[in-house]
Amino acid sequence: MTASYIAAPWRARYVRSALRRKDCVFCAALRAGDDRKAYILHRARHAFIILNRFPYPAGHLMVAPYRHTADFARLSKAVSDEMTALLKLCVRILGRSDRPHGFNLGMNLGACAGAGVADHLHVHVVPRWPGDANFMPVLGDVSVLIEDLDASYDRLLPLFRRSSPSSAPKR
Ligand SMILES: [Zn+2]
Repeated sequence: MTASYIAAPWRARYVRSALRRKDCVFCAALRAGDDRKAYILHRARHAFIILNRFPYPAGHLMVAPYRHTADFARLSKAVSDEMTALLKLCVRILGRSDRPHGFNLGMNLGACAGAGVADHLHVHVVPRWPGDANFMPVLGDVSVLIEDLDASYDRLLPLFRRSSPSSAPKR
């Protein structure tokens, strides 16, 4: 652990409130009409890339379908193929910009599996460095690397724009 890590007790509060909340944070972000405020980095045909508002490390991204669904097994091939393509894009861009030594890509299906937002499936893209917490502690609310969320967005947006000029986020 270094000084750049702090405890993140707000995550537990956030997860509890997200479980109670009726409106879905992903659907709300999509509807907001301001992709910068919503931290949406990229919109593709069936799915989108968004910064996690409560990141474990800086650069923690999520890929989610537009459709509000928890049913991963029944995603159409078009949607799951595009989500895979977006995951590859995230890994490529973060790999170049942040130079992590590894990644965790993963999905928590269902609240009991640790999903903060269980009704709208999403895949986490978590860049990793040697010496940071292990995967399970990371998903168990242990620590975060501090970077202002707006700074993360400003840093990453041009990289996503450059590699995907056809689908710029709404400003
Ligand atoms: Zn939703």
